[in-house]
Amino acid sequence: MVYYVLNSILKYNSNIRKYRQRIVNKEFGLCTECYRPNTYFMYWCQYCNSKRFEQNFDKWTSGNEHVDKFIRESQKARNYEEILEWIPYDRLRNIEYLAKGGFSTIYKAIWLDGNIHYWRDKKQKWKRGRNKLEQKDYENANKENVTSPLKENEKKGKYVVLKSLNNSSNIHEDFLNEWKIYLQFAYSAKNDNAYIMKIYITQDPKTLNYMIVLQEVIQGIHGDLHSGNLLFNNNIDVYISDFGLSRPVNQSINSDDIYGVIPYIAPEVLCCKPYTKAADIYSFGIIMWEFTSGVSAFNDIPHDFHLISKICKKFRPKIIKDTDPDYVKLMKRCWNSDPNERPTAEELENSFDIWKNKYPIEDKNSARKKVKKSKKPKEPDKPVTENNHPLSCYISRKLNEIICSKSIDIDLDEIDRALREFDNDSCVKDLPDLPKYDR
Ligand SMILES: [Zn+2]
Repeated sequence: MVYYVLNSILKYNSNIRKYRQRIVNKEFGLCTECYRPNTYFMYWCQYCNSKRFEQNFDKWTSGNEHVDKFIRESQKARNYEEILEWIPYDRLRNIEYLAKGGFSTIYKAIWLDGNIHYWRDKKQKWKRGRNKLEQKDYENANKENVTSPLKENEKKGKYVVLKSLNNSSNIHEDFLNEWKIYLQFAYSAKNDNAYIMKIYITQDPKTLNYMIVLQEVIQGIHGDLHSGNLLFNNNIDVYISDFGLSRPVNQSINSDDIYGVIPYIAPEVLCCKPYTKAADIYSFGIIMWEFTSGVSAFNDIPHDFHLISKICKKFRPKIIKDTDPDYVKLMKRCWNSDPNERPTAEELENSFDIWKNKYPIEDKNSARKKVKKSKKPKEPDKPVTENNHPLSCYISRKLNEIICSKSIDIDLDEIDRALREFDNDSCVKDLPDLPKYDR
């Protein structure tokens, strides 16, 4: 699984080269209209389809020139995977609240039209992807918490997830640029193993917040690169979401603010040093641990200044017994305190390639390789706690006030003493008072 996640990031260069070559080789055939090479399956011609979208530009608007420009730009796409569409809010039905994240609120809904797949010459209109709706959808329409209920005469639609971006009515151009970079990267990285989710845009007419519309993911949405950002579909495919979106949309890029979820943030970032690629590798190491424990890292302790201080002092999740030694070695390198000691993404990919051959995926339980149990005498192993500590926080948030390193004036020995006692008795109220620091 970890392999799939990384794979989606690393296949970028080779995939884009291969894809361009396929167009040059005319693998998708020639356009019957302009005789240029098609740029994708289903007779997708970038030249002709761009013109079709352009003819439609005056038929819709998001109400924001930056967003309009952003969507129009995307519609010069080489294939249907790359296009964004503006979805009028009144084409959504059965809108139902699911969850609240750090900077967004999640809903599920039915999109009556469905997404564009290809141009139908005979009918002179777009073929869109949608399905026959089910009985339960008409029943759900009557639920109290559902808005824009589905009507009896509406028979087809597509299940989607709406991610409403808090305070996004005045969306930042910087934000959209960052998003554009992400999308370019994401679509190019698409390959057989990792899918980046197709994205559409709409706006909540009440709050005026912009909403990202995602294809529904079966196995739940959690809440940034922390495990809440990985979306699993049938336990087979892994999606990475929220690149560059893990901060308020009206926040400028050049800000010194630190946002995130404490357990996944590299110690150097917590000490206000610049964010580098190596910090992503650190986060990845924590996610690797979660695959062995089944719970979120540090879920049994408060996510506060004490934890930050401990992480800076090399405090890491406890290795779960019987984890493969090679896996442990790699994971520990990822979360090394020295960013230069962490592996690069390429090194990780190589390791996963080796493992993939060493441990091929077997569907049958009996064909799977058995994990070697340790021969050491059994020591009582503290089981992981499934319940999260009430002061833990897995929602991305602004951390400056907690970190505030420049203004912290405290005796490190005193912190150490406090932490030792903290380890002995992980209860907040028993902690000796720490010196106050300026906020
Ligand atoms: Zn054409």
